[in-house]
Amino acid sequence: MASQTTYSTDSKSNILPLRPVIKDYAWGIRGLDSRVARFALESGVIDEVDPDEPYAELWLGTHPSGPSTIRDGITLEQTVGGHLPFLFKVLSAGKALSIQAHPCKSLARVLHRNDPTNYVDENHKPELAVALTPFEAMCGFRRIEEIAILIKKHPEFAACISNEAKLRVFLCSEDEKDKKEALRGLFHSFMSCPADISTEQLKKLLKRLQKEQSCDHVHPHEEPPWERKCARAILRLAQQFPGDTGAMAPFLLNYLLIAPGESFYMAANEPHAYVAGEIIECMACSDNVVRAGLTPKFKDVDNLVNMLTYSQGGPTINAGTPAYGDDRIMRYTPPTGEFEVMVITCNPGEDLTLPRLPVPAIFIVIEGSGNTDNDDGQRLVMRPGRSYFMPSNCPPLTIAVNSSKRGPLRIALAHENQHMDEPNLSSASETGPKMWSGEFALPSEIRSPSSKMHSPGMMNGFSSTPTASSQ
Ligand SMILES: [Zn+2]
Repeated sequence: MASQTTYSTDSKSNILPLRPVIKDYAWGIRGLDSRVARFALESGVIDEVDPDEPYAELWLGTHPSGPSTIRDGITLEQTVGGHLPFLFKVLSAGKALSIQAHPCKSLARVLHRNDPTNYVDENHKPELAVALTPFEAMCGFRRIEEIAILIKKHPEFAACISNEAKLRVFLCSEDEKDKKEALRGLFHSFMSCPADISTEQLKKLLKRLQKEQSCDHVHPHEEPPWERKCARAILRLAQQFPGDTGAMAPFLLNYLLIAPGESFYMAANEPHAYVAGEIIECMACSDNVVRAGLTPKFKDVDNLVNMLTYSQGGPTINAGTPAYGDDRIMRYTPPTGEFEVMVITCNPGEDLTLPRLPVPAIFIVIEGSGNTDNDDGQRLVMRPGRSYFMPSNCPPLTIAVNSSKRGPLRIALAHENQHMDEPNLSSASETGPKMWSGEFALPSEIRSPSSKMHSPGMMNGFSSTPTASSQ
């Protein structure tokens, strides 16, 4: 794909250590359990880690709300000679992030013009997540058939929706357009339910679900696992956000658990909420969020109801596709031009040369350690949390891992999309419901046929120790 920006092709420019920016949002994992904290410590962003403080996000890029620096007084933006089209992040979520969606380009422009305080830039924000630990998230709407089952089963949820909207869901035809209209009506009705009613119904719901979770409840075996999972998710969210009716979101959104090395993509105008775990995230350079719940921050329900696509079913889940003829380089390619992510694994006793790239890239060591070399004899410290800026067309870097090391060196690298014609990730809005068709799908159908399969038994995903907060 042709590059969107003209970059310097000075082959003498070398790889430079990067100083990212840390964000301490309240949902972050606390203390040293957070990769964001450990990575920030290693890259010299912070001097010490407070065990009581949340460490939520590490930003690598040129976004004005968190610009990375090369060294004191020199920003990454100055070095690049402009903005990078993407923003690369590490995320450590100890509790759920708000239920949100990101506007498309045209809506982002309108929102920013009308409300620059809440909508900080004009850009869209499609985003891609690659799990570093088991990662839980709500992504995209459930299929309307699933929601209908949940309405019938949970009278408290039903009480928050108008009879007209419910009827529409029950009488909905097989036609996609009809399904979308029914879902839109349902979501609008639920989101505009008066607070006193929804709060009261949430209380009743939690009481009943708690009772049903106890072992002396008579019916648990009749309930399919996806319904049990949904009920447990509601109880946990309600614990994290007492009184917030956003805890009922699992009735509406697909609830996913992905393994380390697996990824998904969220296109514009798709509802989602990350729940727990740690990921590498890459997105178009933007920070625009329309929020709807599970947050004390500004909620913009009207814009959210109007902007969503109402596509049903979750995103493709993919464990990467080998790139550059080497299956140790796995690419995660969304159908958008600004970015793609590579995860590069070098095992003990091996070496690996990074491809020469016509675009600038950022990489961060996510696991293990090793040595480096290039034509200029450049030595970099490869330790978890160290991050670097790689100018376009810089001399190829060879990484080697000593055979005495206990595990592989793993690097996550982001750059402008070089495989736009072969994306391996998509959200439901692009593919229709045929990819991940929701909880009714058999487990073997959950994974996209183009993805590299791995069963839990032979998992070659990243080694990880789930933290207490990712349970
Ligand atoms: Zn998001």
